[in-house]
Amino acid sequence: MIQKFCLMVNSKCYKDQILMDGNPKGIVVHSTGANNPYLKRYIQPADGYPDYDRILADIGVNKYHNDWNRIDTKSNPNYVCPHAIIGKNDKDEIECYQILPFEFCCYGCGKGDKGSYNTDPAYIQFEICEDDLTNPKYFEQVMDTAIEFCATLVFLYNIPIKNIVSHKEAHKLGYASNHRDIEHWANRYGWTMDLFRDKVRSLSEAGEKNVKELKPSLSEAGVCLSEADEKKEKLYKVQVGAYSKRLNAEMMVNKLKYKNIDSFIVEC
Ligand SMILES: [Zn+2]
Repeated sequence: MIQKFCLMVNSKCYKDQILMDGNPKGIVVHSTGANNPYLKRYIQPADGYPDYDRILADIGVNKYHNDWNRIDTKSNPNYVCPHAIIGKNDKDEIECYQILPFEFCCYGCGKGDKGSYNTDPAYIQFEICEDDLTNPKYFEQVMDTAIEFCATLVFLYNIPIKNIVSHKEAHKLGYASNHRDIEHWANRYGWTMDLFRDKVRSLSEAGEKNVKELKPSLSEAGVCLSEADEKKEKLYKVQVGAYSKRLNAEMMVNKLKYKNIDSFIVEC
């Protein structure tokens, strides 16, 4: 799976910064409902964003300015912005971009009778870019990426497999608006959400065996002291996080960069 970052810092969810109450409780799987498999339709880096050029070189430029990285009710009336999106870059490669920090609530699934998985309980939500729904190869590729993405989240946050639901299922459960994704697409190829969950379960169990030793000593933000050898002066190092995945560390570096704070990653 190719996973990258481009935080939608101009979106309403990013600006509102409604924090989840603890870890995400589940995952909502969406698909976009429009025939456009390209990531650039939905995501673009903000002006001045770190890696602006690299991201645009990867996904391409959206000439229509209708991506999610804006508070603009005309092009994005419901302020939609999920945590991640899977689709094609400019070279037709399938990539997964994380676009919101996982600890923020997103605006993804609307509301149902009982509430909303946007905030209560807060779920991680991601979109899969649809094509014209007739290409089984593309469907398979994005499903593989989605399964891997979910398995990583299950491992990171101990998300129960049963709490991985499609938007359609989320509506049935009373926590989302009435949409058909992803079943209207998946069912064409004989896929069900049960099959999807089974595949995530298998992969996360296999992954758990492989990465158990990497499980983080999740120290909270803190300060550690160390002696400088030559001058015997004390150094005060500020730590803002410790992550088991390099990806998450890189995301934090990006966030700090955006606030004009230099930082670096130390592997230990
Ligand atoms: Zn949806």
